[in-house]
Amino acid sequence: MITWTAEQREFRDLMVPLADELNEGHIEWDEKEEFPYDKWKTIQRSGLLAVPFREEWGGRGQSLPTTMYALEGLGYHSRDAGLNFSASTQIVSTGIPLQRFGSKALKDRYLPRILDGSLIGAHAITEPDHGSDATNIQSVAVKDGDDYVINGSKMFISNATIADVFLLYVRTGEAGSPLGISVFLVERDTPGLSVGPNIRKMGLHSSPLAEVFFDELRVPASNMLGSEGAGFLILDYVMKREILFSFSINLGEMQHRLERVVAYARSREQFGRPIGKFQGVSHKIADMKIAVETARKWLYDTAEKVVANKDSTIDVAATKITVSEANKATALTALQIFGGYGYLTEHGIEKDVRNALAGTIYSGTSEIQRNRIASMLGL
Ligand SMILES: Cc1cc2nc3c(=O)[nH]c(=O)nc-3n(C[C@H](O)[C@H](O)[C@H](O)COP(=O)(O)OP(=O)(O)OC[C@H]3O[C@@H](n4cnc5c(N)ncnc54)[C@H](O)[C@@H]3O)c2cc1C
Repeated sequence: MITWTAEQREFRDLMVPLADELNEGHIEWDEKEEFPYDKWKTIQRSGLLAVPFREEWGGRGQSLPTTMYALEGLGYHSRDAGLNFSASTQIVSTGIPLQRFGSKALKDRYLPRILDGSLIGAHAITEPDHGSDATNIQSVAVKDGDDYVINGSKMFISNATIADVFLLYVRTGEAGSPLGISVFLVERDTPGLSVGPNIRKMGLHSSPLAEVFFDELRVPASNMLGSEGAGFLILDYVMKREILFSFSINLGEMQHRLERVVAYARSREQFGRPIGKFQGVSHKIADMKIAVETARKWLYDTAEKVVANKDSTIDVAATKITVSEANKATALTALQIFGGYGYLTEHGIEKDVRNALAGTIYSGTSEIQRNRIASMLGL
C-alpha cells in the first residue's frame, strides 16, 4: 500500500474548502439533467484539472497515483457523480493523450486551456453500430493533400454538447486492423462537425452525452496525434488511465457512502435499538467495507504496475470489474439500509444507484474486461 505524503494529501483535499459550494442543491439539480456550469467553475478554481500535467503548460506535475488520490478526494467531497464524471472525462479524453502524443504546436495551443478548464474536451470512439467492437469503427478519414476528410458518426459521447475540442478516433486503414485507426484533434466549430442534443439517460445527469456527426469534415494532417495508424496504441494508453481516474472517483464516492451508512445505522432505531446492532444490517455494512478496501487495493496496486511499465492488462481489467461492481453493490446496500428513506429522491441515495449502474458499461463493459483476462490466460 502507498504511504501518502503531506503534499499528496493536499491534492486529495483540494475540494475540502469548496465542498459546500459544490454540493449546494445537488439533488434538485439532478432532476434538471443539465450541465452545472457554475459548479464547473468551482472545479476550475480548485486546480484539480491541472494535476497530472507538466508545469510548462500550467500543470501541477503530479504522478498517476497522486492524480488518482486527488480524484478520490473529488469523489469523496462532491455528491454530483455526473459532474465528477465530466471532470475525469475532461482530464483523460483530451489532455492526457495530447500531453503524451500531441505535437508541440498542438500542446502549446490547447493544453493550457484544457488544464484550466476554459476549454472542455471530449473523446469520440464509440459508434452507433460499433461499441465493444471498436476495432471495426466505420467513421473514416481520407487523406487529401495536407488534410484529412472525415465522414461518419459517433454515439454516447460524454461532454459532447459542452465540448470545445474533440479527439476523434477514426479509420485510416483496414477495418479490424489494430493499425487501422488514427486520432485527430478537432475544434467544435469546424465546418462539417455537428453535435446532436443531450440524450436523456438513467443517471449521471450532470454529464451530458450526445451523438457527434462528421460530414466532409476537413482536418489538417498536423492535427493528428502520434502517427497514422497509432490510434489503438493511444486508445490503450488512454483507457488504462480512464479506468484508473474515473474509478478512483468511485472509490471516494464509496468511502463517503460507507461513512454515511455507518452513521445512519448507529442513529436509526427500531425495536428500541440502533439498526446497526442487528446482524442482518451490520454484516451488510461489513461487506461494504470489504468492497471499498478491495477496490482501493486494486486501484493503487494497478497504478503502481502501470507506472512501472509492467504488463497490467489483467490488472486494469480486474480493477475495472472490481470497482464498478463494488460501486453498484454498495449503492444498492446503502439504499436497503436507509429503508424507505433511501428510496426517496430527497436523500440522494437512489441517484447513487442510478449513477453507479453505468460503470459496468462505459470504458469497456464487464464482459469485454473478462474477455481480456481470459485471453491473457490463453483462453
Ligand atoms: C454513461 C456513458 C458514457 C459514455 N461515454 C463515452 C465517451 O465519452 N466516448 C465514447 O466513445 N463512448 C462512450 N460511451 C460508450 C461506451 O464505451 C459503450 O457503451 C461501451 O463500449 C459498450 O458499447 P455498446 O453500448 O455499443 O454495447 P455493445 O458493444 O453492443 O454490447 C452490448 C452487450 O453485449 C456484450 N458484448 C459485446 N461483445 C461481446 C463479446 N465479444 N463478448 C461478450 N459480451 C459481449 C456487452 O458486454 C454488452 O453487455 C459511454 C457509455 C455510457 C453508458
